[in-house]
Amino acid sequence: MDTLIVVKDLKKNYGDLEAVKGITLSIPRGKIFGFLGPNGAGKTTSLKIFVGLLRATSGEVYIDGLLASKNKKKLNYMLGLIPQDLVFWDDLTVEENLQFVGEMYNVPKEKRREIINSLLKEISLEDKRKTLAKNLSGGLKRRLNIIMGLVHDPEIIVADEPTPGLDPHSRALVWDFLRDLTRVKKKTVILTTHFMEEADRLSDQIAIMDHGELLVVDTPENLRNSIGEGDLIELQFNEDIFVEKAAIILEEVKDGIGILDICPFGMMLQIRCLNAPSRLTEILNILTNIEGLEVVDMKIRKATLEDVFLHLTGRALRE
Ligand code: ATP
Repeated sequence: MDTLIVVKDLKKNYGDLEAVKGITLSIPRGKIFGFLGPNGAGKTTSLKIFVGLLRATSGEVYIDGLLASKNKKKLNYMLGLIPQDLVFWDDLTVEENLQFVGEMYNVPKEKRREIINSLLKEISLEDKRKTLAKNLSGGLKRRLNIIMGLVHDPEIIVADEPTPGLDPHSRALVWDFLRDLTRVKKKTVILTTHFMEEADRLSDQIAIMDHGELLVVDTPENLRNSIGEGDLIELQFNEDIFVEKAAIILEEVKDGIGILDICPFGMMLQIRCLNAPSRLTEILNILTNIEGLEVVDMKIRKATLEDVFLHLTGRALRE
């Protein structure tokens, strides 16, 4: 693996709050590296330190062999930030906004024109180039925000929650755009998200964070497989107390009916099982032995990154 970024025991405190509690990881060149975690996990804080917008309390970040805190000016040109908040000038047109950031980065005129044209095309904003930014729809503003950080043609693109509020069509377009940055343009993309589907579909590697800690780093596939084989059956009952009771009774018979794992999560009982659809009737029959129990909701599905998070922390990603 060609490593581009090395993070060593990175910590950030805001007063008494330990927002990042000592993360160590390597980010490969030319791939999409996703940070997945719930609100407040410390993703944005970590990213801001990577791009030099925040000073770490301790620890080190090396980018392409350079100590980030000592090489800010040089790294400024290597890094492009797609911030969570919309950052552009409302009273400039789309094109004027892009020209302006290009000038700020001293991109030569001809190259600037070329890059702006290609970015507008790739993010499908060509026909809006003369529109004032304030008059764009919410989704188009988000697209403008994405390309604002790329006019200086950075090698590393840091995207902090790039798709909130986008409709499925725009989200798919942005996902394709981000994918092409690595696959066609050979850039490196670092992404934060709390949408597990976004992390799963886009990332070559995912770091799952929670409460300032790095829980695990791996490919989406390995993470999903880490839960184990089989499908998940999820059952909800008429009353909470039945979750525990059902877990106990199924635990006694699980080996005989292909159940691999039983996990109570709040109001829900999750059962990992081989050949789940064919086992369901048998499982429900066993549960009818519990007096008063009624199944009020039921699902059978494949494991997702949401389950990985649930199994690591005992909590849902979006609680
Ligand atoms: P989100 O998805 O909501 O952006 P996140 O994983 O990016 O979450 P951070 O924004 O890094 O999380 O926040 C981590 C913790 O640090 C949170 O508890 C947050 O309230 C706190 N925090 C972030 N910025 C500051 C700040 N400038 N001053 C004080 N506390 C902060």
